[in-house]
Amino acid sequence: MTFSLTSIISALNAKVSGSFEDFKPENISIDSRSLQNGNGTLFFALTGSHHDGHQYIQQLINKGVRNFVVQYIPDGLENKANFLVVENTLFALQQMAGYYRSLFSFPIIGITGSNGKTIVKEWLNFLLSPDYSVVRSPKSYNSQVGVPLSVFGINEQHDLGIFEAGISQKGEMEKLENIIQPNIGVFTSIGSAHDEGFLSQEEKIAEKTKLFNHCSLVVLEKNPLIEHYISQPKLTWSFTDKNATLFVSQKWAENTATRLTLVYQDQTFEVTLPFTDEFSIQNAMNCIGVLLYLNTSISVITERIQNLYPIEIRLQAKKGINNCIIIDDSYSSDYQSLKIALDFLEQQKLHQKKTIIVSDIFQSGLPTEVLYQKVFSTLQNNHIDRIITIGETISNYLSKLPHVISFSSTADFLKQFNTQSFQNETVLVKGARSFNFDEIVVLLEEKKHETVMEINLDAITYNLNFYRSKLKPETKVMVMLKAFGYGNGGFEIAKLLEHLKVDYLGVAFADEGVELRKAGISTPIIVLNPENYSFNTMIAYDLEPEIYSINGLHSFLKIAQEKNISQYPIHIKLDTGMHRLGFEAAQLDELIAVLKNNNFVAVKSIFSHLAASDDKQFDAFTYKQFECYQENSKKLTETLHIKPIRHILNTSGIFNYPEMQMEMVRLGIGLYGIGNSDYENQQLQNVSTLKSIISQIRIVEKGESVGYSRKFIANKPTTVASIPIGYADGIRRSLGNQKSYVTINGQRADIIGNICMDTLMVDVTRVNCKEGDEVIIFGERPKVTELAEFLNTIPYEILTGISQRVKRVFYKN
Ligand SMILES: *Cc1c(COP(=O)(O)O)cnc(C)c1O
Repeated sequence: MTFSLTSIISALNAKVSGSFEDFKPENISIDSRSLQNGNGTLFFALTGSHHDGHQYIQQLINKGVRNFVVQYIPDGLENKANFLVVENTLFALQQMAGYYRSLFSFPIIGITGSNGKTIVKEWLNFLLSPDYSVVRSPKSYNSQVGVPLSVFGINEQHDLGIFEAGISQKGEMEKLENIIQPNIGVFTSIGSAHDEGFLSQEEKIAEKTKLFNHCSLVVLEKNPLIEHYISQPKLTWSFTDKNATLFVSQKWAENTATRLTLVYQDQTFEVTLPFTDEFSIQNAMNCIGVLLYLNTSISVITERIQNLYPIEIRLQAKKGINNCIIIDDSYSSDYQSLKIALDFLEQQKLHQKKTIIVSDIFQSGLPTEVLYQKVFSTLQNNHIDRIITIGETISNYLSKLPHVISFSSTADFLKQFNTQSFQNETVLVKGARSFNFDEIVVLLEEKKHETVMEINLDAITYNLNFYRSKLKPETKVMVMLKAFGYGNGGFEIAKLLEHLKVDYLGVAFADEGVELRKAGISTPIIVLNPENYSFNTMIAYDLEPEIYSINGLHSFLKIAQEKNISQYPIHIKLDTGMHRLGFEAAQLDELIAVLKNNNFVAVKSIFSHLAASDDKQFDAFTYKQFECYQENSKKLTETLHIKPIRHILNTSGIFNYPEMQMEMVRLGIGLYGIGNSDYENQQLQNVSTLKSIISQIRIVEKGESVGYSRKFIANKPTTVASIPIGYADGIRRSLGNQKSYVTINGQRADIIGNICMDTLMVDVTRVNCKEGDEVIIFGERPKVTELAEFLNTIPYEILTGISQRVKRVFYKN
């Protein structure tokens, strides 16, 4: 097998700069935030329309990385590292992955479809790993970048691969097929997700099924429309069509399980799924299809299927006890997912101190000795302050690392658990399912109620890039993080924005900026409502004030003088029609007189704010504001001979008046997935989902009432579910009495009666649900914009009104 730099160079047809010694890359990286292991890393500098990996090369050289695949060598780095120069780094990554894959000849299962890819992959891994040494895509790594990275996880010990492939537009699947080269295909389902990238449903199916071009079998639910596009042999299943290869002749639901009678070839057998919902049953059927094709015996299938479990596919960072952050990854424990979890830990560096709690590791495909040697060096390189090993094997192999505490079992650890021993640190909890680390997570998690607001960090990146695509590449972006990131969380989002190289952050008050600095954010921060008493703090924390009045300027200058600082960046706000804060034309001469020959401060930017950028009916007014801005800012720049950054646009301004972008824009609500028109909204991704659970379900007889003041009277027997969220959480009382609804298991349930302080009630008479089920208050459905309409207000008010007692959970896919 040849996979070394020399073979890579020739496979990529790359131009070489530097003195490469031939080596076998141990770590292929595309993200500068990931763990790097110096010389063993080959870093691909990917470029997107808004992101350029080349910008991080210096930083990586400082971390000890030496070998880079690039499109160009950044200025000044020519002799500092080794470079493979290629035309397109993404193609190179894909090409190299395809080459690497082709070095292995064992069977590989390729999974695609609109929903269920990750669950089917994880379940197949669970079902097949007693018989095979399985390699699979970690998490939901199924994109143009994720698939190549997944494939590099293959090694000589594996004898079965399971990889998922996800696409959003035409032309993408062929590339993924070239990389995965699957022998067995699974088509999970066809839905409406990502429809934007395709002209029609048919086009989408035609594209997706290209994954199967070289498969010897494809498993799918019987469906003539899809089958039409698959010329390979098929194993179909169906609840209705007896002609399917695998026919479900009977199905009956029990309390929490579903029993199915299956007919396959000349055998009839029964399986019990520990689920009742439609999606899980579909996913399980696809798994059974694959098992049958691989000649798994019926008795083994029956046995394993009844042990399927729900899959948590994302890493989550949660608030923990004693100001800790808990990263919960207590459901898988192979080497690749350990590395991903450590990367995530590295990125969540709110606290300097890091602890990892880790169990024995399974399913690596490597001999035990080799596996733990790898784990040993990974942990050693990663500077973890405390390593808690649970399990005989891992404790044995890692005992020589510094700062290790060992336990033979989870029960042992729990017996000695002391809440005081976890303080102000980030704790990664990473263990195999059989170790029941969820019991540890429960102890470490901050005890709040079951309502959470989930923030999708990937959607934030997507939305930022969407607005960047509306701007000239050189236009700077300030992101508004005021009001705790519009209710979504401050430093977690700031951390991401800093990585995405946003130019400025904007907060309303100094203390918000101080929080960000304390969390390690170094991006410039502007404070929009600086109060005179906070100027000292602002200078101490490197926060830049908006100056909107002569009085404010004098107060700031006084302090600057006392502290003897020079050229402190300030931002001049002009009032051009909003009439909130800012200098009017008549005050400019006085302003100029103060600023002239003043060395204490430097005007970093001059800006104004549009009052009606979201409403085309005020077009003329907006143009007048812009004209006024141009005139007044010109007066300042020309008389003072300065060249500050000029900016006036907020989110809807970027969308409606891009010609006014000047040198910078100020993005706010759009980042959080909310635009000011339906058209704009369709192009954004949902960021925040407010969720709770059903506490109790009861049946209310005809004539009975529900809630305070008997506002709801049942006109027939009505099933009522109570949800532990109320107006104290920010769910406005006027959304009660059928004004709004919630979503439970994909179904709509109207809010009935008056909303209470901590509880609301919904009608679930026609909703398939049980106590403990998840309830969506807003997110994909209903959307925040819908609630805003019901209430006759704007989405800003709803988002920022969600109380701080609601726990925020951040996740990445
Ligand atoms: C809040 C704010 C913004 C952002 O407004 P959005 O409508 O959320 O994009 C921009 N500029 C100023 C001065 C702001 O106060």
